[in-house]
Amino acid sequence: MADDWGYSCENGPATWEEKYPEARGARQSPVDIVTSRASSGGSAPPLRWKYSVNHTRSVVNPGYCWRVDENGYESELRGGPLGSDVYKLQQWHCHWGAEDGEGSEHTVDGRSFSGELHLVHWNTSKYDSFTEAAGKPDGLAVLGVLLMVGSKHKELDKVVRLLPFIQHKGDKVTLSDPLDPAQLLPPRVAYWTYPGSLTTPPCTESVTWILFKEPIQVSAEQLALMRKLRCGEPSCGTEAMELLHNYRPTLPLGNRELRDYGGN
Ligand SMILES: [Zn+2]
Repeated sequence: MADDWGYSCENGPATWEEKYPEARGARQSPVDIVTSRASSGGSAPPLRWKYSVNHTRSVVNPGYCWRVDENGYESELRGGPLGSDVYKLQQWHCHWGAEDGEGSEHTVDGRSFSGELHLVHWNTSKYDSFTEAAGKPDGLAVLGVLLMVGSKHKELDKVVRLLPFIQHKGDKVTLSDPLDPAQLLPPRVAYWTYPGSLTTPPCTESVTWILFKEPIQVSAEQLALMRKLRCGEPSCGTEAMELLHNYRPTLPLGNRELRDYGGN
């Protein structure tokens, strides 16, 4: 039996709104970034982040991606469209496609990339917990990083090489090596930002999206290891299907404002 939601024919994005009414909303993500529609971000303070390198992290397979749980340990994201509020890193995870050249959730002028990392932060200035923030319009800030096929990404590899150990839904391993989430971001701080939602159920409209313009490179082998993850538990046998793709198609931007920080 299919899970409540996922990316298969029976439980994929087209079916989510039956069970998760927010998925029908007017502030949904991802969207296609039409670069000519973006307005200038103006003179906001620069976006700044600070992450902890040395702490133990869990790498988990929740059945629909791989995810690294940070639980907010000593991190800060502020500035740019976030104003003076301080956000903490809760977790980061990845979306990918069945083939190279597809798999990003956001597209840029109609173009897909081979995957997309999401670094999920919550607003600690206004809320007491991730769970509380996740339900508020200004509760979350997600940094989106587009992936393109190229050379192996060394920092990301600290996680990717553990994926064979979390093949099935519910699997979890501990990563004790130092890892710097800042190394997952492209060197140039230029991005688009707009108000949107979680891209997985319940698709809550609580996210300030910050999508970096410049993609980072990952190798074809790294993407191939992601596609070997399974969305079922070991007991599902052949039903523990490979998670070949896990991206939601784009939804209309509507009358939301898309802003551009950092020029071209
Ligand atoms: Zn995501």
